Amino acid sequence: MDKLLSNTQTGFSDIKESYEKICADIKQAMADAGRTDEVKLMAVTKTVSPERVNYAIDLGVELLGENRVQEFLDKRDSYKTAEVHFIGGLQTNKVKYIIDKVTMIHSVDSVRLAEEISRRAGQHGKIMDILVEVNIGEEETKGGISAQSARDFCSEVLALPNIRLRGLMTIPPPWCSEEVFAAMQKLFESIKADPPENAGEENFLFDTLSMGMSGDYTTAIKYGSTIIRIGSGLFGYRKYTNN
Ligand SMILES: *Cc1c(COP(=O)(O)O)cnc(C)c1O
Repeated sequence: MDKLLSNTQTGFSDIKESYEKICADIKQAMADAGRTDEVKLMAVTKTVSPERVNYAIDLGVELLGENRVQEFLDKRDSYKTAEVHFIGGLQTNKVKYIIDKVTMIHSVDSVRLAEEISRRAGQHGKIMDILVEVNIGEEETKGGISAQSARDFCSEVLALPNIRLRGLMTIPPPWCSEEVFAAMQKLFESIKADPPENAGEENFLFDTLSMGMSGDYTTAIKYGSTIIRIGSGLFGYRKYTNN
């Protein structure tokens, strides 16, 4: 039987168990890495019912990750209070639907998209926090800026008025080696230490490395991730995915 369905029928105890395990894993991975800063656990909600999402919020989840505009708009009124970040592929013509409903957009990988985010943020009198998505595994089928172009791309984004660059996001290839995570950490640290010339106090707060999903979050924490994005590891298997 489909796991999502059976979980719904037997209550939410599976989410509680998973949540507790993930929290313990985070603690352990941070201790192993000698880290004393913070790693945020993001609950990725695609295909998950609002009831299950709300149960996770009751357990202590404070941050949700959305990657489908329509699904988010359909579900958001049913959610209890939580911060929401947009993490999925985003078409420029959909920016207007989410710009006032999320506090960060993780998936910025084109100047056109960044321009539209800046324009729409301006209309709402706000500055939008964004991450630049890096295709660290250099996979042809995936979105994201190449590691080599990331610094120049950051500079282009920083030229826009209503955007604050918070860091980088990546979706490493499944089962990739730890070197890929290490390369991502190195890239993040290098831009942080030596920002583009047009970085200023207003538009540059490079404190976020969004890396790590259900299968690789402990490795991601070892290599400096500050937000791990967990879907199936928390809520159970999805019937379908778009990534
Ligand atoms: C679905 C998704 C996740 C979570 O994936 P899991 O393997 O289910 O934890 C994380 N990040 C993005 C961008 C996603 O689309």
